[in-house]
Amino acid sequence: MKTIEDLDVTGKRVFVRADLNVPLDGATITDDGRIRAVAPTIAKLLERGAKVVVASHLGRPKGEPEAKFSLAPVAERLGEILGKDVAFATDTVGESAAAAVAGLADGQVALLENLRFNAGETSKDDAERKAFAEQLAALADLYVGDGFGAVHRKHASVFDLPALLPHAAGDLIATEVGVLKKLTDEVARPYVVVLGGAKVSDKLGVIDNLLKKADRILIGGGMAYTFLAAQGHEVGISLLQEDQKGRCLEYLAEAEKRGVEFVLPVDVLVSAEFPDLKGKTPATFDLVSSDAIPADKEGLDIGPKTRELYAEKLADAGTVFWNGPMGVFEHPDYANGTKAVAQALLDSPGFTVVGGGDSAAAVRILGFDENAFGHISTGGGASLEYLEGKQLPGLTALEG
Ligand code: ADP
Ligand code: MG
Repeated sequence: MKTIEDLDVTGKRVFVRADLNVPLDGATITDDGRIRAVAPTIAKLLERGAKVVVASHLGRPKGEPEAKFSLAPVAERLGEILGKDVAFATDTVGESAAAAVAGLADGQVALLENLRFNAGETSKDDAERKAFAEQLAALADLYVGDGFGAVHRKHASVFDLPALLPHAAGDLIATEVGVLKKLTDEVARPYVVVLGGAKVSDKLGVIDNLLKKADRILIGGGMAYTFLAAQGHEVGISLLQEDQKGRCLEYLAEAEKRGVEFVLPVDVLVSAEFPDLKGKTPATFDLVSSDAIPADKEGLDIGPKTRELYAEKLADAGTVFWNGPMGVFEHPDYANGTKAVAQALLDSPGFTVVGGGDSAAAVRILGFDENAFGHISTGGGASLEYLEGKQLPGLTALEG
């Protein structure tokens, strides 16, 4: 894979596909980690006299403009981080984009509006995607892929566009891939994997592959309840993917066969209602054993015994990969499980990697020093699919 050092960028229009899909509360960016992560690549290109055209998706608009998914707040924040004006185009390949790019002098930067305001970006139809990629290609001379969080998507700006322009990987992608290689080649043992979060079916896939590599797998968050239900326990109104129970049992059996420690929560915090994430009014909850969840309650965090157990299982780790919060950390009453795991990572002697948009945001929002971790990945789905052993379209495209 070429890096940006291999490109002659001076005076050239360089299209940087970034992942600026940051969490927003209205027009306020609640975590700017992804903007800060790609800023060094952009700054380097600007220093070398490139005209930089940055593009990204944000949220999941349905192929047409939707004000709440506008990248306008990101343009402002990016400008603050770079210490430079960022010209903002109010469309992606229309008049505003053409004018913004035409107006760039060497060393100046523009941000295009949300790529997904255009149906061609995510289209399953190869021709439709290619047509949109051609429109994007008209705005640039060179392509730099640095949107790690999107490399698992076969989208126009990720997969089709690099085929149309001389291309290289940005520094963020180069770093992310380097770290993931470390987690797949020879790892320092014990290799402990912690999985949680809400997207159960997305995350089950990675277990398949990790069962062949990890020494211990600790499960928390919404994922845990499908495993507990598979074992025959009542899980009340907790997150549950009924159709995945069979798969969970297979994983448990496979783990036993391979001698992989597979650990589920022993106690959980349960409540009859989902907490108030806006006003954060104190929650009403009970602590129960994980085999005694009442039928009318849902599990919202791991309990203190589980926190201690998971900290123990992480204490001697040589390598840790963590994806997915242990509970609904957005509410302070259900943040303790996630905090305990974050702290256990910091206390462990090993190389620690945190993956996943919400997990990375949780670490920062809960007040941990992100530099104290080995690596905080900007891509959840992308890092999981890499660890599953899948080919990632955005990386394949950069290799060619
Ligand atoms: P990531 O972005 O790190 O990959 P996910 O998107 O899968 O993580 O999951 C993050 C979300 O999971 C958070 O918003 C959190 O509130 C939610 N979550 C964690 N535990 C539970 C639970 N027990 N019940 C419901 N939601 C949960
Ligand atoms: Mg998420």
